[in-house]
Amino acid sequence: MFADIIVDIKHEKLDKVFQYRIPKEMEEDIRLGMEVVIPFGMGNRRTKGYIVGLSKTCNYDVSKIKEILEISHERVEIEAKLISLAAWMKEHYGGTMIQALKTVLPVKQKEQAKVKRYVRLLLDKESAKKQLDYYLEKNQKARARLLAALLDTPVISYELVTKKLNISLNVVRALEEQKIAILESEQVYRNPVTAQGKQEYQVEYTEEQSIAIETFWKAYKKGIYQTYLLHGVTGSGKTEVYIEMIRRVVSQGKQAIVLIPEISLTYQTVMRFYRCFGERISIMNSRLSAGERYDQMMRAKNGEIDVMIGPRSALFTPFPKLGLIVIDEEHEMTYKSEQIPRYHARETAQARAKMEGASVVLGSATPSMEAMYRAKKGEYQLLSLKNRSGMQSMAQVYTIDLRQELKEGNRSILSYKLQELIAQRLERKEQVILFLNRRGYAGFISCRECGHVIKCPHCDVSLSYHKNGKLMCHYCGYEEKRTHNCPACGSRHIGEFRAGTEQIEEIVKKQFPKARVLRMDLDTTREKNGHEKILSAFANEEADILVGTQMIVKGHDFPNVTLVGVLAADMSLYSNDYRSGERTFQLLTQAVGRAGRGEKSGEAIIQTYSPEHYAVVSAAAQDYEAFYTEEIQYRALMGYPPVEHLLAVFISCEEELLLEKGSKYLKEFALRIASKETTQIIGPANPGIGKLNDIYRKVIYIKDENYDTLIKIKNTLEQYIEINSGYKKMRIYFDFNPMNVF
Ligand code: ADP
Ligand code: ZN
Ligand code: ZN
Repeated sequence: MFADIIVDIKHEKLDKVFQYRIPKEMEEDIRLGMEVVIPFGMGNRRTKGYIVGLSKTCNYDVSKIKEILEISHERVEIEAKLISLAAWMKEHYGGTMIQALKTVLPVKQKEQAKVKRYVRLLLDKESAKKQLDYYLEKNQKARARLLAALLDTPVISYELVTKKLNISLNVVRALEEQKIAILESEQVYRNPVTAQGKQEYQVEYTEEQSIAIETFWKAYKKGIYQTYLLHGVTGSGKTEVYIEMIRRVVSQGKQAIVLIPEISLTYQTVMRFYRCFGERISIMNSRLSAGERYDQMMRAKNGEIDVMIGPRSALFTPFPKLGLIVIDEEHEMTYKSEQIPRYHARETAQARAKMEGASVVLGSATPSMEAMYRAKKGEYQLLSLKNRSGMQSMAQVYTIDLRQELKEGNRSILSYKLQELIAQRLERKEQVILFLNRRGYAGFISCRECGHVIKCPHCDVSLSYHKNGKLMCHYCGYEEKRTHNCPACGSRHIGEFRAGTEQIEEIVKKQFPKARVLRMDLDTTREKNGHEKILSAFANEEADILVGTQMIVKGHDFPNVTLVGVLAADMSLYSNDYRSGERTFQLLTQAVGRAGRGEKSGEAIIQTYSPEHYAVVSAAAQDYEAFYTEEIQYRALMGYPPVEHLLAVFISCEEELLLEKGSKYLKEFALRIASKETTQIIGPANPGIGKLNDIYRKVIYIKDENYDTLIKIKNTLEQYIEINSGYKKMRIYFDFNPMNVF
């Protein structure tokens, strides 16, 4: 027998299968996906690798083939199904096979099993009593105490024996030797979900919910497994729909994975699933210990749970019969991995579902452009929930034109209307959220008088200001000199758009000295649980005003918040990225949705220099369709995803000149293999951060309507890089449909 092995070495050159002979004595134990130790290279260095194939024939010179040395028994095996998924990921996202294998195996190390020990009585009552008399006679007090307890309860936990009865292990061993009692142990899995009270679960579904559930179920029963997009406004009851779909899938003996952004994976969410599925659910998150994580994987593998809830990596839960994958808040950026392979959970979930015969349900109040585009094309089936399940109405939204404020002499970041409404809320003892939707590196230049933003003439994204005094485009490398007058209106009020949460906190405190203000941003949440502490303080009404970045608008319900102020919608609108309109729409919609969650109705204020921008207008109107229609036209016009696909090739190197040459050659080579009709190659340009830790960086963007063409280009570039020794000093990686341009 022979094994195909992927060697655990970083080098791209070794990213292929090596064949080894399986020694006779190992044949019975060897399985696909195991980690083994092999002699590798000229010096036969002991090296680790994963078995990805088994065969009876040898493809090389049998006399030269080496043998596997040993099995790494302390390492977790990769499921055969997940090996195929890893191969798919390597092909679609780049990187090496070993990187892909490690990704589909989020828990790699076996952990010591947690055991529970018991002392069990071996004698019948009669003989035990006799023995007890004997101990008492001999004045063997500890032995007598233990035996008396065992006469009472024949099986006692070891903990009780040592702690409560104060009996040492030696005493237990003595009874064991005399065959009076025995110390037994049993493996127990660590369980991070501690709760009680699985309940009779009964919800009366709204008509929209029933239609969604039945549409899904009718197809599922017929064996039609596909992807659904559940588009439902916040509070429309999407979670209830997921639960019912899962309940039905589980009733067929299959299992389900529920992906949730880590920040939303709260106790309340878990409890909603627990109520329906009880102990048959588990969770994965970064707070679990290694032992807990390992045990959850084992419980899933052994069929002890039906539902796994967790962030992105829970997608690789090794269920024996996966039936459904739910991705809640499907539009969230955290579903894209920023490590090689840079996979997107949405696409990878579909690939896994296809391999294993499962369906996928994507849910969101503001679906990503990708998901809605595919739904409209008929690749996904669309399910809609248009109404809130309760009676709450949406907030009343005012859009404030900051240019007008300036004209009226208001230079504060708080518009007159916002000041007025804050004062009113303080009076009424209601709460206020002030939201700064800044994202990553803003740094764009705009005019405070007319709102004009300086953009790249080729890419229609905003130019970023660099310390060298130039304005640059991160897509194509275009640059121009910074002007001091607005090119549109000539005003001198043109400059970098910057505002920080700390500044705003100060301004608010100055203007409303009696208000209690809390601030939530990266600085104030750095300590452990800092995030929860601030949120619960605000929920307990220990503050009147909460100032913060996007982390405050995700999912939390504050019934006493009746006013939300978005201080500058432009902060996310003109970040130098083609997705900025989409993100702004999502953030504004979520922010507006925070107002008036309780019985009192809410109001929201959106302050902006671009009140006419469709992302602002449609968010204020809570009109997803209107936003989508405009945005997809822009994407189509500029050839951005989802209409076309975008492959970013990032190249970094310590030597600036070498990098410049290398990236130019790479582009030229790509041009030669690209399709003349459909492919467009842009750059090399400087990414958002042109130099990081003294390492220079460049990026080339390759656009094509056909993903497979981009894969072909990637594969050919990988070969080109491998055979050209000039690239040895450079680090190159690929990012398909990237989330960030730095
Ligand atoms: P979403 O996930 O779309 O934000 P949820 O599923 O969290 O919505 O539902 C919002 C609230 O409405 C929850 O408190 C939920 O229990 C309740 N709810 C949902 N569907 C129903 C229903 N059919 N009948 C009564 N209450 C419902
Ligand atoms: Zn101007
Ligand atoms: Zn450009």
